[in-house]
Amino acid sequence: MDIVTYPDSILEEKAEPVHNIDQEIQDLIETMGELMYGASGIGLAANQVGVAKQIFVFDLNYREKGRRLNAVINPVIVSGEDRIEFEEGCLSVPDFLAKTTRKRYLKVTGLDRKGGPLDIEAEGLLSVCIQHEVDHLNGTLILDHVSRLKRNLYKKKIAKLMKRERDR
Ligand SMILES: [Zn+2]
Repeated sequence: MDIVTYPDSILEEKAEPVHNIDQEIQDLIETMGELMYGASGIGLAANQVGVAKQIFVFDLNYREKGRRLNAVINPVIVSGEDRIEFEEGCLSVPDFLAKTTRKRYLKVTGLDRKGGPLDIEAEGLLSVCIQHEVDHLNGTLILDHVSRLKRNLYKKKIAKLMKRERDR
């Protein structure tokens, strides 16, 4: 398993809810954690590893010390308040930063990796991170948060890179 990047079509898919939290899901969460830490990311959604299921992992502390992998299954954003301006990158959209406006405070419910109920109250970076991951599960990328001009420039750049790869 590896982190998939734009323009892989799974990144535009809406993820399906998880009904059975079995061993396969546990293994998936472990793998997602390893890939996220390996890439020094703070969040990763299941479609980013090619699985269209409503799961994401996060840990604001990507340094080795004090790591604690959090997983959220079937997340629902209950409410969001106030605004925060941010500049976001994405492991699936290399070499791209998007200026975004997000909710500063967020309430999210879902299930933890054992299937127990989760209630998260997030603020600031964590709030932005969760909105970014929930976006992924809805098939939305940071590319969808920028102007058409900026998006098209990036698409052209990627198309050029892919052509160069093919012609090699
Ligand atoms: Zn992302």
